[in-house]
Amino acid sequence: MKFAITSKGDAKSNTLMQRMRTYLQDFQLDYDEDQPDIVISVGGDGTLLYAFHRYKNRLDKTAFVGVHTGHLGFYADWTPDEIEKLVIALAKTPFQIVEYPLLETIVRYQHGGREARFLALNESTVKSVEGTLVMDVEIRGQHFETFRGDGLCIATPSGSTAYNKALGGAIVHPSIDAIQITELASINNRVFRTVGSPLLLPAHHTCMFRPVNAVNFQITIDHLTLLQEDVKSIQCRVADEKIRFARFRPFPFWKRVHDSFIAN
Ligand code: NAP
Ligand code: MN
Repeated sequence: MKFAITSKGDAKSNTLMQRMRTYLQDFQLDYDEDQPDIVISVGGDGTLLYAFHRYKNRLDKTAFVGVHTGHLGFYADWTPDEIEKLVIALAKTPFQIVEYPLLETIVRYQHGGREARFLALNESTVKSVEGTLVMDVEIRGQHFETFRGDGLCIATPSGSTAYNKALGGAIVHPSIDAIQITELASINNRVFRTVGSPLLLPAHHTCMFRPVNAVNFQITIDHLTLLQEDVKSIQCRVADEKIRFARFRPFPFWKRVHDSFIAN
């Protein structure tokens, strides 16, 4: 079995990365940065987001594991003092796999047939470059509302504890194949109206955002911010692909929610 390790880059994460690499090689596992079967992320949730984007072209062949060197993470749920246990578990394959849904965002442009497709593990957001964001929102081909405000956030279940939560979205168990749309400061008065509540869409209910006047937007895909010009439409749905996590011990999602937000 081949493995790779990504580190947050600080001294603590780098030291742990080196130790794990040596341990795993002692167990006859091969270090392979290009085609790993297992990717270990050492740092925080942000480090796992980075690892996901690095290996997103081979998700069906890669299982992720996250070790946290700071606070408990949703993706990084192993502690540094558990790494010996983790290494032994990794060395004696096969291990269990759990899969989480991802978000697919397709941006289409005013001129020409090209389109861009993005996968997000947490969420995608759409904001204007200048002034109020105005977007026609369509769900399953039907006009739903004209949104005016700061922006829209479309989150995965595992991303629901991140930006989505700060926007008043619900926490969604990652066994549910869905995406959630939340608003960023919508304008609501006698003239302009949006639904105001977070919306949960099942797999294959596509939503489409169509610009009303401006055509340039700031779109985020997890930690990445992209300037998108001459946009014709932005389409979101549950992706066909999933992220796979290697599971070596039970750590239920609701316990991670409890330990992260209530008490540890
Ligand atoms: P960051 O600024 O370090 O991330 C913000 C915080 O979100 C960090 O504490 C990060 O944990 C945590 N986080 C990331 N994914 C999470 C998840 N699925 N559930 C719960 N917490 C999560 O930047 P980053 O590490 O590159 O992460 C990018 C993410 O930041 C975006 O995907 C977005 O969800 C989030 N964000 C949140 C807000 C907000 O809450 N107002 C605003 C912008 C972006 P670590 O410290 O372990 O990395
Ligand atoms: Mn971070």
